[in-house]
Amino acid sequence: MDKILRIDVGGKGGPQFNEVPIGEYVGLGGRALTSAIVSKEVPATCHALGGENKIVIAPGLLSGTTAAMSGRISIGCKSPLTGGIKEANSGGQPAQVLARLGYAAIVLEGKPATDDLYKVFINKDGVQISVDNSLKMLPNYDLVDKMKGEYGEKIACISIGPAGEMKMCSASIACTDMEVRPARHAGRGGVGAVMGAKNIKVIVLDDTGMPMRSPKDPEKFKDANKRFVEGLTSHPVTGEGLPAYGTNVLTNILNEVGGYPTYNFKQGNFDGASKISGETQAETETARGGLATHGCHRGCVIRCSGVYHDKDGHYLTKQPEYETVWAHGGNCGIDDLDTIAMLDFLDDNYGVDTIEMGNAVAVAMEAGLAEFGDGEAAINFVHEVGKGTPLGRILGSGAAAVAKAYGVERAPVVKGQAMPAYDPRAVQGIGVTYATSPMGADHTAGYAVAQNVLKVGGDVDSLKPEGQVELSRNLQIATAAIDSTGMCLFIAFAILDQPETFQALLDIIGAYAGVDFTADGVTDLGKKVLTMERDFNARAGFTKAHDRLPSYFQTESLPPHNVTFEVTDEELDQVFEW
Ligand code: SF4
Repeated sequence: MDKILRIDVGGKGGPQFNEVPIGEYVGLGGRALTSAIVSKEVPATCHALGGENKIVIAPGLLSGTTAAMSGRISIGCKSPLTGGIKEANSGGQPAQVLARLGYAAIVLEGKPATDDLYKVFINKDGVQISVDNSLKMLPNYDLVDKMKGEYGEKIACISIGPAGEMKMCSASIACTDMEVRPARHAGRGGVGAVMGAKNIKVIVLDDTGMPMRSPKDPEKFKDANKRFVEGLTSHPVTGEGLPAYGTNVLTNILNEVGGYPTYNFKQGNFDGASKISGETQAETETARGGLATHGCHRGCVIRCSGVYHDKDGHYLTKQPEYETVWAHGGNCGIDDLDTIAMLDFLDDNYGVDTIEMGNAVAVAMEAGLAEFGDGEAAINFVHEVGKGTPLGRILGSGAAAVAKAYGVERAPVVKGQAMPAYDPRAVQGIGVTYATSPMGADHTAGYAVAQNVLKVGGDVDSLKPEGQVELSRNLQIATAAIDSTGMCLFIAFAILDQPETFQALLDIIGAYAGVDFTADGVTDLGKKVLTMERDFNARAGFTKAHDRLPSYFQTESLPPHNVTFEVTDEELDQVFEW
Protein backbone atom coordinates (compact mmCIF):
# COMPACT_ATOMS: atom_id res chain seq x y z
CA MET A 1 0.00 0.00 0.00
CA ASP A 2 2.61 2.47 -1.06
CA LYS A 3 0.68 4.24 -3.78
CA ILE A 4 -2.42 6.34 -4.27
CA LEU A 5 -4.61 6.10 -7.36
CA ARG A 6 -5.77 9.58 -8.32
CA ILE A 7 -8.57 9.82 -10.87
CA ASP A 8 -9.19 13.27 -12.33
CA VAL A 9 -12.78 13.02 -13.56
CA GLY A 10 -12.40 16.32 -15.42
CA GLY A 11 -9.57 15.03 -17.61
CA LYS A 12 -9.50 15.69 -21.33
CA GLY A 13 -11.70 13.14 -23.10
CA GLY A 14 -12.95 11.71 -19.80
CA PRO A 15 -11.42 10.65 -16.47
CA GLN A 16 -7.63 10.30 -16.43
CA PHE A 17 -5.75 8.40 -13.77
CA ASN A 18 -2.36 8.69 -12.25
CA GLU A 19 -0.62 6.45 -9.71
CA VAL A 20 1.50 8.40 -7.29
CA PRO A 21 3.63 7.40 -4.29
CA ILE A 22 1.92 7.82 -0.93
CA GLY A 23 4.54 10.44 -0.08
CA GLU A 24 3.71 12.71 2.83
CA TYR A 25 0.79 10.48 3.89
CA VAL A 26 3.00 7.46 4.59
CA GLY A 27 2.05 5.54 7.71
CA LEU A 28 -1.59 6.58 7.54
CA GLY A 29 -4.56 4.39 6.67
CA GLY A 30 -8.35 4.40 6.89
CA ARG A 31 -9.83 7.46 8.61
CA ALA A 32 -6.42 8.97 9.35
CA LEU A 33 -5.65 8.96 5.63
CA THR A 34 -9.05 10.15 4.39
CA SER A 35 -9.13 12.98 6.91
CA ALA A 36 -5.50 13.95 6.22
CA ILE A 37 -6.11 14.21 2.46
CA VAL A 38 -9.45 16.00 2.77
CA SER A 39 -8.11 18.36 5.41
CA LYS A 40 -5.04 19.26 3.34
CA GLU A 41 -6.36 19.19 -0.22
CA VAL A 42 -10.03 20.21 -0.09
CA PRO A 43 -10.82 23.90 0.48
CA ALA A 44 -13.02 23.82 3.59
CA THR A 45 -15.47 26.38 2.21
CA CYS A 46 -15.94 24.73 -1.18
CA HIS A 47 -19.28 23.38 -2.36
CA ALA A 48 -19.45 19.70 -1.47
CA LEU A 49 -20.75 18.79 -4.92
CA GLY A 50 -18.25 20.98 -6.79
CA GLY A 51 -14.97 20.21 -8.49
CA GLU A 52 -12.85 21.18 -5.50
CA ASN A 53 -14.23 18.42 -3.28
CA LYS A 54 -12.63 14.97 -3.38
CA ILE A 55 -13.77 11.48 -2.47
CA VAL A 56 -11.04 9.52 -0.72
CA ILE A 57 -11.49 5.75 -0.41
CA ALA A 58 -8.94 4.20 1.94
CA PRO A 59 -8.57 0.69 3.38
CA GLY A 60 -7.27 0.57 6.94
CA LEU A 61 -3.62 0.25 7.80
CA LEU A 62 -3.98 -3.48 8.52
CA SER A 63 -6.42 -4.28 5.69
CA GLY A 64 -5.19 -6.92 3.27
CA THR A 65 -3.14 -8.67 5.96
CA THR A 66 -4.21 -11.80 7.85
CA ALA A 67 -5.15 -9.73 10.92
CA ALA A 68 -8.66 -10.68 12.04
CA MET A 69 -11.37 -8.00 11.73
CA SER A 70 -9.24 -5.73 9.53
CA GLY A 71 -11.60 -5.31 6.58
CA ARG A 72 -13.15 -1.92 7.19
CA ILE A 73 -12.86 0.81 4.60
CA SER A 74 -13.03 4.58 5.17
CA ILE A 75 -14.61 6.95 2.69
CA GLY A 76 -13.98 10.65 3.26
CA CYS A 77 -14.90 13.99 1.71
CA LYS A 78 -16.53 17.27 2.61
CA SER A 79 -20.09 16.24 3.47
CA PRO A 80 -23.00 17.71 1.51
CA LEU A 81 -25.21 16.89 4.50
CA THR A 82 -23.23 18.54 7.29
CA GLY A 83 -20.94 20.92 5.41
CA GLY A 84 -18.09 19.57 7.51
CA ILE A 85 -15.50 16.84 7.11
CA LYS A 86 -16.82 13.30 6.75
CA GLU A 87 -15.51 9.82 7.23
CA ALA A 88 -18.08 7.10 6.58
CA ASN A 89 -16.99 3.56 7.33
CA SER A 90 -18.09 0.29 5.77
CA GLY A 91 -17.50 -3.42 6.00
CA GLY A 92 -17.60 -5.78 3.05
CA GLN A 93 -14.78 -7.01 0.86
CA PRO A 94 -13.38 -3.87 -0.86
CA ALA A 95 -10.92 -2.92 1.92
CA GLN A 96 -9.11 -6.26 1.79
CA VAL A 97 -9.12 -6.37 -2.01
CA LEU A 98 -8.02 -2.77 -2.56
CA ALA A 99 -5.20 -3.18 -0.04
CA ARG A 100 -3.96 -6.36 -1.74
CA LEU A 101 -3.98 -4.51 -5.05
CA GLY A 102 -1.44 -2.23 -3.41
CA TYR A 103 -3.43 0.96 -3.01
CA ALA A 104 -3.44 3.03 0.17
CA ALA A 105 -6.28 5.07 -1.33
CA ILE A 106 -8.28 5.96 -4.40
CA VAL A 107 -8.95 9.68 -4.77
CA LEU A 108 -11.70 10.90 -7.11
CA GLU A 109 -11.11 14.57 -7.89
CA GLY A 110 -12.10 17.30 -10.34
CA LYS A 111 -15.32 18.10 -12.13
CA PRO A 112 -16.74 16.06 -15.01
CA ALA A 113 -16.99 17.89 -18.33
CA THR A 114 -20.00 15.91 -19.57
CA ASP A 115 -22.96 13.89 -18.23
CA ASP A 116 -21.35 10.59 -19.17
CA LEU A 117 -21.22 7.94 -16.47
CA TYR A 118 -18.07 5.87 -15.91
CA LYS A 119 -16.99 2.57 -14.38
CA VAL A 120 -13.50 1.82 -13.11
CA PHE A 121 -11.97 -1.68 -13.15
CA ILE A 122 -8.79 -2.47 -11.23
CA ASN A 123 -6.91 -5.77 -11.20
CA LYS A 124 -3.30 -6.95 -11.08
CA ASP A 125 -2.76 -5.71 -14.63
CA GLY A 126 -3.76 -2.13 -13.88
CA VAL A 127 -6.64 0.32 -14.15
CA GLN A 128 -9.28 0.65 -16.87
CA ILE A 129 -11.81 3.46 -16.92
CA SER A 130 -14.65 3.28 -19.42
CA VAL A 131 -17.80 5.19 -20.20
CA ASP A 132 -20.98 3.16 -19.65
CA ASN A 133 -24.20 5.11 -19.83
CA SER A 134 -26.20 1.87 -19.70
CA LEU A 135 -25.55 1.96 -15.94
CA LYS A 136 -27.49 5.19 -15.44
CA MET A 137 -30.01 5.00 -12.59
CA LEU A 138 -29.40 1.30 -12.02
CA PRO A 139 -30.10 0.26 -8.43
CA ASN A 140 -27.13 -1.30 -6.64
CA TYR A 141 -28.23 -4.96 -6.85
CA ASP A 142 -28.89 -4.77 -10.63
CA LEU A 143 -25.63 -2.91 -11.11
CA VAL A 144 -23.57 -5.51 -9.26
CA ASP A 145 -25.26 -8.34 -11.17
CA LYS A 146 -24.24 -6.61 -14.40
CA MET A 147 -20.66 -6.21 -13.18
CA LYS A 148 -20.50 -9.90 -12.25
CA GLY A 149 -21.63 -10.71 -15.78
CA GLU A 150 -18.83 -8.58 -17.21
CA TYR A 151 -15.96 -9.21 -14.82
CA GLY A 152 -16.79 -12.56 -13.17
CA GLU A 153 -17.78 -13.62 -9.68
CA LYS A 154 -14.46 -12.90 -7.93
CA ILE A 155 -14.92 -9.16 -7.73
CA ALA A 156 -15.65 -6.60 -5.06
CA CYS A 157 -17.61 -3.46 -5.94
CA ILE A 158 -17.82 0.06 -4.56
CA SER A 159 -20.88 1.71 -6.08
CA ILE A 160 -23.70 4.22 -5.91
CA GLY A 161 -27.39 3.76 -6.59
CA PRO A 162 -29.85 6.24 -8.12
CA ALA A 163 -29.77 8.41 -4.96
CA GLY A 164 -26.04 9.00 -5.45
CA GLU A 165 -26.54 9.87 -9.11
CA MET A 166 -29.25 12.35 -8.06
CA LYS A 167 -26.75 13.77 -5.54
CA MET A 168 -29.06 13.39 -2.56
CA CYS A 169 -27.64 14.31 0.85
CA SER A 170 -28.55 10.91 2.29
CA ALA A 171 -26.87 8.95 -0.53
CA SER A 172 -24.56 6.13 0.53
CA ILE A 173 -21.72 4.25 -1.14
CA ALA A 174 -22.30 0.49 -1.31
CA CYS A 175 -19.60 -2.13 -0.73
CA THR A 176 -20.17 -5.76 -1.65
CA ASP A 177 -19.97 -8.50 0.94
CA MET A 178 -18.38 -11.94 0.65
CA GLU A 179 -21.25 -13.13 -1.55
CA VAL A 180 -20.81 -10.07 -3.82
CA ARG A 181 -24.03 -8.41 -2.66
CA PRO A 182 -24.09 -4.60 -2.30
CA ALA A 183 -25.30 -4.89 1.27
CA ARG A 184 -22.67 -3.01 3.29
CA HIS A 185 -22.69 0.76 3.09
CA ALA A 186 -20.60 3.78 3.93
CA GLY A 187 -23.87 5.38 4.84
CA ARG A 188 -23.44 8.61 6.60
CA GLY A 189 -23.17 12.19 5.45
CA GLY A 190 -24.09 11.89 1.78
CA VAL A 191 -20.77 10.45 0.57
CA GLY A 192 -22.70 8.82 -2.30
CA ALA A 193 -23.74 12.26 -3.58
CA VAL A 194 -20.09 13.30 -3.87
CA MET A 195 -19.24 10.13 -5.80
CA GLY A 196 -22.29 10.87 -7.96
CA ALA A 197 -20.99 14.38 -8.58
CA LYS A 198 -17.82 12.78 -9.98
CA ASN A 199 -19.92 10.69 -12.46
CA ILE A 200 -18.28 7.47 -11.26
CA LYS A 201 -20.96 4.80 -10.87
CA VAL A 202 -18.86 1.85 -9.76
CA ILE A 203 -15.32 0.79 -8.95
CA VAL A 204 -14.84 -2.93 -9.62
CA LEU A 205 -11.90 -4.62 -7.89
CA ASP A 206 -10.33 -8.02 -8.58
CA ASP A 207 -7.30 -9.07 -6.53
CA THR A 208 -6.82 -12.45 -8.23
CA GLY A 209 -3.10 -13.22 -8.30
CA MET A 210 -2.23 -10.66 -5.66
CA PRO A 211 -0.56 -11.81 -2.40
CA MET A 212 -1.64 -11.04 1.14
CA ARG A 213 0.16 -8.04 2.59
CA SER A 214 3.03 -9.08 4.83
CA PRO A 215 3.87 -7.63 8.22
CA LYS A 216 7.43 -6.59 9.07
CA ASP A 217 7.59 -9.22 11.84
CA PRO A 218 5.49 -12.20 10.67
CA GLU A 219 6.04 -14.42 13.73
CA LYS A 220 5.13 -11.73 16.25
CA PHE A 221 2.18 -10.78 14.06
CA LYS A 222 0.87 -14.35 13.93
CA ASP A 223 1.20 -14.81 17.68
CA ALA A 224 -0.50 -11.49 18.44
CA ASN A 225 -3.33 -12.25 16.03
CA LYS A 226 -3.91 -15.60 17.77
CA ARG A 227 -4.18 -13.91 21.16
CA PHE A 228 -6.43 -11.22 19.68
CA VAL A 229 -8.84 -13.79 18.22
CA GLU A 230 -8.90 -15.70 21.52
CA GLY A 231 -9.80 -12.50 23.32
CA LEU A 232 -12.61 -11.69 20.90
CA THR A 233 -14.12 -15.15 20.99
CA SER A 234 -14.02 -15.40 24.79
CA HIS A 235 -15.74 -12.05 25.50
CA PRO A 236 -19.50 -12.33 26.11
CA VAL A 237 -20.39 -9.51 23.67
CA THR A 238 -18.03 -10.28 20.79
CA GLY A 239 -18.01 -14.04 21.37
CA GLU A 240 -21.68 -14.66 22.18
CA GLY A 241 -24.18 -11.76 21.94
CA LEU A 242 -23.17 -10.28 18.59
CA PRO A 243 -22.67 -13.61 16.77
CA ALA A 244 -25.98 -15.02 18.03
CA TYR A 245 -28.27 -12.04 17.54
CA GLY A 246 -26.32 -9.42 15.61
CA THR A 247 -26.34 -5.77 16.60
CA ASN A 248 -30.11 -5.98 16.93
CA VAL A 249 -29.51 -7.66 20.30
CA LEU A 250 -29.64 -4.02 21.46
CA THR A 251 -33.38 -3.52 20.80
CA ASN A 252 -34.56 -5.24 23.97
CA ILE A 253 -31.65 -3.79 25.99
CA LEU A 254 -32.23 -0.15 24.97
CA ASN A 255 -35.97 -0.56 25.32
CA GLU A 256 -35.62 -1.92 28.84
CA VAL A 257 -33.45 1.00 29.97
CA GLY A 258 -35.86 3.53 28.42
CA GLY A 259 -33.37 4.83 25.89
CA TYR A 260 -35.02 3.51 22.70
CA PRO A 261 -36.16 6.58 20.73
CA THR A 262 -39.75 6.01 19.68
CA TYR A 263 -42.14 8.03 17.46
CA ASN A 264 -39.47 10.52 16.37
CA PHE A 265 -37.74 10.71 19.78
CA LYS A 266 -40.96 11.24 21.80
CA GLN A 267 -40.53 8.40 24.31
CA GLY A 268 -37.89 5.91 25.38
CA ASN A 269 -39.94 2.69 25.16
CA PHE A 270 -41.65 1.01 22.23
CA ASP A 271 -44.53 -1.42 22.81
CA GLY A 272 -43.61 -3.39 19.71
CA ALA A 273 -39.93 -3.84 20.62
CA SER A 274 -40.03 -7.59 21.27
CA LYS A 275 -41.57 -8.18 17.81
CA ILE A 276 -38.54 -6.62 16.11
CA SER A 277 -35.82 -7.63 18.57
CA GLY A 278 -32.60 -9.42 17.66
CA GLU A 279 -33.91 -12.56 19.32
CA THR A 280 -37.07 -12.58 17.14
CA GLN A 281 -35.03 -11.63 14.07
CA ALA A 282 -32.55 -14.50 14.55
CA GLU A 283 -35.38 -16.98 15.09
CA THR A 284 -37.12 -15.76 11.92
CA GLU A 285 -33.92 -15.94 9.87
CA THR A 286 -33.14 -19.48 11.00
CA ALA A 287 -36.71 -20.71 10.46
CA ARG A 288 -36.75 -19.36 6.90
CA GLY A 289 -33.38 -20.79 5.86
CA GLY A 290 -31.47 -17.52 6.17
CA LEU A 291 -28.50 -17.02 8.47
CA ALA A 292 -28.48 -15.57 11.97
CA THR A 293 -24.67 -15.42 11.97
CA HIS A 294 -22.53 -14.23 9.08
CA GLY A 295 -19.36 -12.22 8.49
CA CYS A 296 -19.39 -9.21 6.18
CA HIS A 297 -15.79 -9.78 5.08
CA ARG A 298 -13.16 -12.50 5.10
CA GLY A 299 -11.29 -12.51 8.40
CA CYS A 300 -14.19 -11.38 10.59
CA VAL A 301 -14.44 -13.65 13.64
CA ILE A 302 -17.27 -11.81 15.44
CA ARG A 303 -19.72 -12.30 12.55
CA CYS A 304 -22.46 -9.94 13.73
CA SER A 305 -24.25 -9.98 10.40
CA GLY A 306 -26.82 -12.36 8.93
CA VAL A 307 -29.04 -13.08 5.95
CA TYR A 308 -32.76 -12.29 6.00
CA HIS A 309 -35.14 -14.32 3.83
CA ASP A 310 -38.72 -13.41 2.95
CA LYS A 311 -41.72 -15.54 3.90
CA ASP A 312 -41.11 -17.76 0.85
CA GLY A 313 -37.52 -18.46 1.87
CA HIS A 314 -35.87 -16.24 -0.75
CA TYR A 315 -33.08 -13.78 -0.05
CA LEU A 316 -34.54 -10.36 0.77
CA THR A 317 -31.66 -8.46 2.36
CA LYS A 318 -28.75 -8.87 4.71
CA GLN A 319 -29.70 -8.94 8.38
CA PRO A 320 -30.85 -5.39 9.09
CA GLU A 321 -28.64 -3.90 11.79
CA TYR A 322 -29.91 -2.49 15.06
CA GLU A 323 -29.75 1.10 13.86
CA THR A 324 -31.76 0.21 10.74
CA VAL A 325 -34.33 -1.83 12.63
CA TRP A 326 -34.74 1.08 15.02
CA ALA A 327 -34.76 3.87 12.39
CA HIS A 328 -37.45 2.22 10.29
CA GLY A 329 -38.98 0.37 13.26
CA GLY A 330 -39.61 1.99 16.63
CA ASN A 331 -38.74 5.47 15.49
CA CYS A 332 -41.53 5.22 12.89
CA GLY A 333 -43.79 3.12 15.14
CA ILE A 334 -43.39 0.08 12.83
CA ASP A 335 -43.25 -3.32 14.54
CA ASP A 336 -43.10 -5.67 11.56
CA LEU A 337 -39.74 -7.25 10.71
CA ASP A 338 -40.66 -8.04 7.09
CA THR A 339 -41.57 -4.39 6.46
CA ILE A 340 -38.32 -3.27 8.05
CA ALA A 341 -36.32 -5.80 6.01
CA MET A 342 -37.96 -4.55 2.82
CA LEU A 343 -37.07 -0.96 3.78
CA ASP A 344 -33.48 -2.07 4.42
CA PHE A 345 -33.34 -3.68 0.97
CA LEU A 346 -34.80 -0.59 -0.73
CA ASP A 347 -32.37 1.70 1.09
CA ASP A 348 -29.43 -0.47 -0.02
CA ASN A 349 -30.73 -0.79 -3.56
CA TYR A 350 -31.43 2.92 -4.13
CA GLY A 351 -28.29 3.71 -2.12
CA VAL A 352 -29.32 5.75 0.91
CA ASP A 353 -28.26 5.77 4.56
CA THR A 354 -30.76 3.76 6.60
CA ILE A 355 -30.34 5.97 9.69
CA GLU A 356 -30.93 9.21 7.78
CA MET A 357 -33.82 7.69 5.81
CA GLY A 358 -35.57 6.27 8.88
CA ASN A 359 -35.32 9.63 10.59
CA ALA A 360 -36.57 11.44 7.47
CA VAL A 361 -39.62 9.15 7.36
CA ALA A 362 -40.27 9.66 11.09
CA VAL A 363 -40.13 13.46 10.69
CA ALA A 364 -42.49 13.15 7.69
CA MET A 365 -44.84 11.16 9.92
CA GLU A 366 -44.65 13.85 12.58
CA ALA A 367 -45.49 16.37 9.85
CA GLY A 368 -48.67 14.40 9.14
CA LEU A 369 -47.66 12.92 5.78
CA ALA A 370 -48.50 9.47 7.16
CA GLU A 371 -49.50 7.89 10.47
CA PHE A 372 -46.80 6.49 12.75
CA GLY A 373 -46.83 2.72 12.27
CA ASP A 374 -47.89 2.83 8.62
CA GLY A 375 -45.35 0.47 7.03
CA GLU A 376 -46.84 0.69 3.56
CA ALA A 377 -46.50 4.48 3.60
CA ALA A 378 -42.85 4.14 4.70
CA ILE A 379 -42.13 1.79 1.79
CA ASN A 380 -43.81 4.21 -0.61
CA PHE A 381 -41.72 7.07 0.77
CA VAL A 382 -38.49 5.20 0.00
CA HIS A 383 -39.74 4.38 -3.50
CA GLU A 384 -40.37 8.13 -3.98
CA VAL A 385 -36.71 8.67 -3.12
CA GLY A 386 -35.60 6.07 -5.65
CA LYS A 387 -37.76 7.64 -8.35
CA GLY A 388 -36.56 11.14 -7.54
CA THR A 389 -40.03 12.69 -7.29
CA PRO A 390 -40.22 16.11 -5.62
CA LEU A 391 -41.30 14.49 -2.31
CA GLY A 392 -38.59 11.85 -2.75
CA ARG A 393 -35.94 14.49 -3.22
CA ILE A 394 -36.99 16.19 0.01
CA LEU A 395 -36.94 12.89 1.91
CA GLY A 396 -33.62 11.96 0.31
CA SER A 397 -32.12 15.23 1.49
CA GLY A 398 -32.36 14.00 5.07
CA ALA A 399 -34.35 14.54 8.25
CA ALA A 400 -33.38 18.20 8.66
CA ALA A 401 -34.56 19.00 5.11
CA VAL A 402 -37.90 17.26 5.69
CA ALA A 403 -38.36 19.24 8.91
CA LYS A 404 -37.65 22.50 7.09
CA ALA A 405 -39.89 21.69 4.14
CA TYR A 406 -42.84 20.77 6.36
CA GLY A 407 -42.35 23.17 9.28
CA VAL A 408 -41.43 20.64 11.97
CA GLU A 409 -39.42 21.86 14.97
CA ARG A 410 -38.45 18.43 16.28
CA ALA A 411 -35.65 17.43 13.91
CA PRO A 412 -33.22 15.16 15.82
CA VAL A 413 -30.06 16.28 14.05
CA VAL A 414 -26.63 17.68 14.93
CA LYS A 415 -24.68 19.56 12.27
CA GLY A 416 -27.50 18.53 9.92
CA GLN A 417 -27.01 14.78 10.44
CA ALA A 418 -29.74 12.64 12.00
CA MET A 419 -29.26 10.91 15.34
CA PRO A 420 -28.90 7.14 15.62
CA ALA A 421 -30.75 4.74 17.86
CA TYR A 422 -30.00 5.99 21.37
CA ASP A 423 -31.89 8.85 22.98
CA PRO A 424 -29.34 11.35 24.34
CA ARG A 425 -31.57 12.15 27.34
CA ALA A 426 -31.55 8.56 28.61
CA VAL A 427 -27.99 7.83 27.43
CA GLN A 428 -26.28 11.12 28.21
CA GLY A 429 -22.81 9.97 27.23
CA ILE A 430 -23.87 9.30 23.65
CA GLY A 431 -25.48 12.76 23.69
CA VAL A 432 -22.04 14.26 24.30
CA THR A 433 -20.68 12.34 21.33
CA TYR A 434 -23.61 13.36 19.11
CA ALA A 435 -23.11 17.01 20.03
CA THR A 436 -19.37 17.25 19.66
CA SER A 437 -18.21 14.75 17.04
CA PRO A 438 -16.80 16.50 13.96
CA MET A 439 -19.02 14.12 11.97
CA GLY A 440 -22.39 15.31 13.29
CA ALA A 441 -24.66 12.97 15.27
CA ASP A 442 -22.82 9.65 15.03
CA HIS A 443 -22.94 6.83 17.58
CA THR A 444 -19.83 5.16 16.16
CA ALA A 445 -17.68 8.24 16.84
CA GLY A 446 -17.58 7.53 20.59
CA TYR A 447 -19.87 4.72 21.68
CA ALA A 448 -20.64 5.71 25.27
CA VAL A 449 -23.54 3.23 25.24
CA ALA A 450 -20.90 0.65 26.23
CA GLN A 451 -20.25 2.22 29.65
CA ASN A 452 -23.66 3.91 30.11
CA VAL A 453 -25.85 0.92 29.32
CA LEU A 454 -23.88 -2.26 28.65
CA LYS A 455 -21.42 -1.64 31.50
CA VAL A 456 -18.53 -2.77 29.34
CA GLY A 457 -15.19 -1.04 29.89
CA GLY A 458 -16.56 0.99 32.82
CA ASP A 459 -19.77 2.12 34.51
CA VAL A 460 -21.09 5.66 34.10
CA ASP A 461 -24.71 6.45 35.10
CA SER A 462 -26.56 6.92 31.82
CA LEU A 463 -29.11 9.37 33.24
CA LYS A 464 -26.60 11.75 34.83
CA PRO A 465 -24.18 14.24 33.28
CA GLU A 466 -21.27 13.39 35.61
CA GLY A 467 -18.36 11.69 33.88
CA GLN A 468 -19.86 11.83 30.39
CA VAL A 469 -17.50 14.43 28.93
CA GLU A 470 -14.38 12.53 29.92
CA LEU A 471 -15.95 9.28 28.72
CA SER A 472 -16.87 10.67 25.31
CA ARG A 473 -13.45 12.34 24.93
CA ASN A 474 -11.58 9.08 25.57
CA LEU A 475 -13.89 7.10 23.31
CA GLN A 476 -13.68 9.61 20.47
CA ILE A 477 -9.86 9.49 20.64
CA ALA A 478 -9.78 5.67 20.70
CA THR A 479 -12.34 5.40 17.91
CA ALA A 480 -10.48 7.75 15.59
CA ALA A 481 -7.44 5.50 16.01
CA ILE A 482 -9.34 2.22 15.52
CA ASP A 483 -11.03 3.64 12.41
CA SER A 484 -7.56 4.21 10.99
CA THR A 485 -6.44 0.59 11.39
CA GLY A 486 -9.24 -0.97 9.36
CA MET A 487 -10.40 -2.86 12.43
CA CYS A 488 -14.15 -3.21 12.96
CA LEU A 489 -15.22 -1.00 15.84
CA PHE A 490 -16.92 -3.93 17.54
CA ILE A 491 -13.52 -5.12 18.75
CA ALA A 492 -13.84 -2.26 21.26
CA PHE A 493 -16.02 -4.33 23.61
CA ALA A 494 -13.24 -6.87 24.13
CA ILE A 495 -10.27 -4.51 24.11
CA LEU A 496 -11.95 -2.16 26.61
CA ASP A 497 -12.70 -5.01 29.00
CA GLN A 498 -9.65 -7.24 28.59
CA PRO A 499 -6.19 -5.66 28.90
CA GLU A 500 -4.56 -8.70 27.30
CA THR A 501 -6.74 -8.32 24.19
CA PHE A 502 -5.84 -4.64 23.94
CA GLN A 503 -2.18 -5.60 24.24
CA ALA A 504 -2.65 -8.16 21.46
CA LEU A 505 -4.03 -5.41 19.22
CA LEU A 506 -1.05 -3.17 20.01
CA ASP A 507 1.25 -6.09 19.20
CA ILE A 508 -0.48 -6.69 15.87
CA ILE A 509 0.03 -3.05 14.87
CA GLY A 510 3.61 -3.07 16.17
CA ALA A 511 4.50 -6.32 14.35
CA TYR A 512 2.92 -5.01 11.16
CA ALA A 513 4.96 -1.81 11.23
CA GLY A 514 8.07 -3.28 12.81
CA VAL A 515 7.95 -0.93 15.78
CA ASP A 516 6.97 -1.08 19.44
CA PHE A 517 3.44 0.31 19.44
CA THR A 518 2.03 1.37 22.81
CA ALA A 519 -1.25 2.67 24.20
CA ASP A 520 0.22 6.16 23.94
CA GLY A 521 0.58 5.58 20.21
CA VAL A 522 -3.16 4.90 19.97
CA THR A 523 -3.95 8.07 21.89
CA ASP A 524 -1.57 10.19 19.82
CA LEU A 525 -3.01 8.89 16.56
CA GLY A 526 -6.61 9.48 17.69
CA LYS A 527 -5.86 13.03 18.81
CA LYS A 528 -4.05 13.75 15.56
CA VAL A 529 -7.05 12.61 13.49
CA LEU A 530 -9.58 14.56 15.57
CA THR A 531 -7.41 17.67 15.45
CA MET A 532 -7.25 17.55 11.64
CA GLU A 533 -11.00 17.08 11.43
CA ARG A 534 -11.84 19.87 13.84
CA ASP A 535 -9.43 22.17 12.07
CA PHE A 536 -11.19 21.50 8.76
CA ASN A 537 -14.57 22.18 10.34
CA ALA A 538 -13.33 25.42 11.90
CA ARG A 539 -12.16 26.59 8.48
CA ALA A 540 -15.57 25.59 7.08
CA GLY A 541 -17.21 27.95 9.60
CA PHE A 542 -18.09 25.65 12.48
CA THR A 543 -17.93 27.09 16.00
CA LYS A 544 -18.75 25.91 19.52
CA ALA A 545 -22.37 26.77 18.80
CA HIS A 546 -22.50 23.83 16.39
CA ASP A 547 -21.40 21.39 19.12
CA ARG A 548 -24.88 21.32 20.59
CA LEU A 549 -27.99 19.16 20.57
CA PRO A 550 -31.25 20.70 19.33
CA SER A 551 -32.62 22.72 22.26
CA TYR A 552 -35.74 20.59 22.70
CA PHE A 553 -33.60 17.83 24.16
CA GLN A 554 -32.95 20.20 27.10
CA THR A 555 -36.56 21.23 27.58
CA GLU A 556 -38.70 18.25 26.60
CA SER A 557 -38.44 15.37 29.06
CA LEU A 558 -38.31 11.80 27.86
CA PRO A 559 -40.58 9.14 29.35
CA PRO A 560 -40.29 6.77 31.17
CA HIS A 561 -37.48 8.42 33.19
CA ASN A 562 -38.72 11.94 32.42
CA VAL A 563 -35.19 13.21 31.93
CA THR A 564 -33.70 15.98 29.81
CA PHE A 565 -30.15 16.30 28.48
CA GLU A 566 -28.25 17.71 31.45
CA VAL A 567 -24.69 18.16 30.17
CA THR A 568 -24.07 21.92 30.05
CA ASP A 569 -22.67 23.89 27.12
CA GLU A 570 -19.58 24.70 29.20
CA GLU A 571 -18.97 20.99 29.76
CA LEU A 572 -19.45 20.21 26.07
CA ASP A 573 -16.78 22.79 25.26
CA GLN A 574 -14.29 20.78 27.32
CA VAL A 575 -14.52 17.58 25.26
CA PHE A 576 -11.50 18.41 23.12
CA GLU A 577 -9.45 20.04 25.86
CA TRP A 578 -6.69 17.50 26.31
S1 SF4 B 1 -18.37 -7.75 13.40
FE1 SF4 B 1 -20.06 -7.36 12.01
S2 SF4 B 1 -19.69 -5.30 11.12
FE2 SF4 B 1 -17.78 -6.00 12.10
S3 SF4 B 1 -16.64 -6.89 10.42
FE3 SF4 B 1 -17.80 -8.58 11.39
S4 SF4 B 1 -19.77 -8.76 10.32
FE4 SF4 B 1 -18.77 -6.81 9.72
